[in-house]
Amino acid sequence: MQLKVLALPGDGIGTEVTREAVKVLRRVVEKFSHTLDLTEGLLGGIAIHKTGQPMPDETARLAGEADATLLGAVGLPEFDNAPPLQRPERGLLGIRKILGVYANLRPVRTYRSLIDSSPLKNERVEGTDMIIVRELTGGIYYGTPRGIEGSGDTERGTNTMTYTRSEIARIGRMAFHLATQRRKKVSSVDKSNVLETSQLWRKVMVEVAAGYPDVELEHVLVDNCAMQLVLNPRRFDIVVTENMFGDILSDEGAVIAGSIGMLPSASLGEKRPSGAFTGLYEPVHGSAPDIAGQDKANPLGAIGSVAAMLEYSFGLMEEAAAVNRAIETILDSGRVTADLKPKGASATTTQVGDAICEAL
Ligand code: NAD
Repeated sequence: MQLKVLALPGDGIGTEVTREAVKVLRRVVEKFSHTLDLTEGLLGGIAIHKTGQPMPDETARLAGEADATLLGAVGLPEFDNAPPLQRPERGLLGIRKILGVYANLRPVRTYRSLIDSSPLKNERVEGTDMIIVRELTGGIYYGTPRGIEGSGDTERGTNTMTYTRSEIARIGRMAFHLATQRRKKVSSVDKSNVLETSQLWRKVMVEVAAGYPDVELEHVLVDNCAMQLVLNPRRFDIVVTENMFGDILSDEGAVIAGSIGMLPSASLGEKRPSGAFTGLYEPVHGSAPDIAGQDKANPLGAIGSVAAMLEYSFGLMEEAAAVNRAIETILDSGRVTADLKPKGASATTTQVGDAICEAL
């Protein structure tokens, strides 16, 4: 297979972890006899420096031509006080919009060797393996009317939570499709005891479920879900929810895994004729200016994002599994970066990338 991939390393440790992720991708391509057509583009602070725009037109063009996009991270402290439209982070919204990605997938799983890094008791988190599927383009973050008006005691802030049937149905189908390839359980999270948008959400999820008779659907209220995630995370397989609930719950889920540097993500759009999804793949972490340029960043979130890309955009399940196994091998071997090994000799970003390639 020919893999046409756009890499957008971005800023700070984004460039360091993307370098290792690309190294691993090249190794997979070589080992499994595929070919790689890789281009590199500008996004974020570096793009502002070189073109004046956080997401230049050229990047949009390259993303449109690629089968999948691998992103590092964006953000530079020098832009912290810049207006929103001129901040590196604007590039993220831009690339998501261009690619039309509406589902954000965050796997939450525990690794044997990292179990002690979780702030929760081992027996509670051991064996956790779920994907939180967050709707990414609707809900209260985008609904109108919005704004602040008036003054004094009657000054009022307004946001609007709104969902259409089609928006709910497409994220529902994504969740059920993923569940068919896993443990066949979908937990749909809403607040239907209070919100009308959630009542519609629940109704549409039940309708979508009818098309997947092998998959069990349960409804969980968002407040209960927040509690169940720490009390009994093993009960979840696919968790599907709207934009704001997903934003909050996925960060709660992130804590279970131990270090933020470990966490991959995939944002998926429409299915292409090949059956694969349009996808944007990135580690969950930011550009980490505090450790940038020191070869200290954990590249495993970025490398895990390569595994997700192989699986969702290219349908290469065996290749994806090989990368995930290599990650586990490296974790077991203790050749890990300082965030996972505060005491004793840790490995550099480059060494972890090399070790993954060797394991592959
Ligand atoms: P951050 O994720 O960059 O860093 C938070 C903490 O985690 C830091 O102490 C950092 O050293 C550590 N960390 C993060 N990734 C790590 C890794 N791979 N290995 C080891 N340690 C790691 O979040 P922040 O400090 O809040 O934000 C820094 C910049 O990144 C800001 O400009 C922010 O806007 C941007 N940001 C970008 C994204 C993105 O590109 N998707 C996401 C979050 C934040």
